[in-house]
Amino acid sequence: MEYRAVFRCIAECEGDLPLDSAVYRCPQCGDLLDVVHDIQALKRRSAAAWMKLFDSRVGTTNWPYGSGVWGKKEWVAPHVRDDNVVSLFEGNTNLMWAQRYGESLGIPDLWIKQCGNSHSGSFKDLGMTVLVSTVKQMITDGSNISAIACASTGDTSASLAAYAAAAGIKAVVILPRGKISTAQLVQPLANGALVLAVDSDFDGCMRLVTELAEREGVYLANSMNSLRLEGQKTVALEIMQQSDWQVPDWVIIPGGNLGNVSALGAGFQMMLDLGLASSRPRICVAQAERANPLYTSYQKQFREFEPVRARTTLASAIQIGNPVSYKKAVRAIREFDGVVEQASEEELANAAGRADLAGLFCCPHTGVALAALEKLSERGEITREHRVVVISTANGLKFSEFKTHYHEGILDGVPTPKYRNTPVDLPENYDQVRDAVLGALS
Ligand SMILES: *Cc1c(COP(=O)(O)O)cnc(C)c1O
Ligand SMILES: [Zn+2]
Repeated sequence: MEYRAVFRCIAECEGDLPLDSAVYRCPQCGDLLDVVHDIQALKRRSAAAWMKLFDSRVGTTNWPYGSGVWGKKEWVAPHVRDDNVVSLFEGNTNLMWAQRYGESLGIPDLWIKQCGNSHSGSFKDLGMTVLVSTVKQMITDGSNISAIACASTGDTSASLAAYAAAAGIKAVVILPRGKISTAQLVQPLANGALVLAVDSDFDGCMRLVTELAEREGVYLANSMNSLRLEGQKTVALEIMQQSDWQVPDWVIIPGGNLGNVSALGAGFQMMLDLGLASSRPRICVAQAERANPLYTSYQKQFREFEPVRARTTLASAIQIGNPVSYKKAVRAIREFDGVVEQASEEELANAAGRADLAGLFCCPHTGVALAALEKLSERGEITREHRVVVISTANGLKFSEFKTHYHEGILDGVPTPKYRNTPVDLPENYDQVRDAVLGALS
């Protein structure tokens, strides 16, 4: 094979491991693993040639390269043979110019990367396609894997269930009971996954699934599995591709388990290494104030890290107190001159409401990122000269309770929604309809 990638311990222990082995942590020291690519081999193709190749694949019917992830296959998962790819045409999501919202903030060059416009409605699809394809190949090659399992705050399980069902592999998902949205719960049910609703929080579910993987040989799909980060890395490549390969000044991303910011950093780093990017964006990780262990650690220049007990937040997908990818995230934040911000329930809900008025339909996690954007702008760190990309991580339609309760004024922690809009109830009477319309327009 022309291109190669392996697992390597982030603490640099000796001994690389193949990507189609069921390992999630370094067997020697227990630390996280990176996927490391053979950069020398990739360098044999020029930056311009890579850009041209990637651009030529967007929307192609040549399987599997029409997917935003598999269109970058050589950089992502060169180990997967094309006939084992399990793809639902993920990626290639819109990079939306948020013109009116941006202008209202004094940031005219503001772009929203709509990762929620994807098969299962969140960016998790980008990584899950790589993981499930790898498992399919392992099974094809004779591995005895009975199921793929994950703990989830909702979106990971929805994505896993969809890809596993498409591949014909059993999925097991462990969810904190009562802590995810209705839409997120029904997705794995519909896709035929075994759904275990456990009376715990995400961190408790994570401990259970890790033990299940260690003792019963189910394959672990959580983001400590760095295969997923390889797929998620393509968000950085897409942002560049959709900006005519110009580096933005800032990228803002909501963070929970912190795999996604690690992947974002890895994507930009690989473009720097291979000459597709000539400078670095600054990265801002945005956390919910009620689940803010990274923010707290950032306040202390990352000198120490204390897991917290995450409190209930509207941003349920980032309600995580002990993020698995903490070390990788700190590495990315240091490399990209990053900052960490946080948002209260009111701030995240109103930021989402304000952006919606300019045509978006933001999930609460995107609201967290937008609230961080507003704070950086108020502090003058982000100015009107900057090109800013905000990563929208999920589709607002998956969080319909968040949206309806905001406008009904009954959202927990948001007593007075700033951008509330309610229907006008009327009988079938022309005069009253006309008065309502003219009254609103005057
Ligand atoms: C998973 C998820 C996040 C957080 O990503 P991490 O990699 O856990 O930091 C943010 N938003 C949504 C909608 C998610 O599903
Ligand atoms: Zn190690």
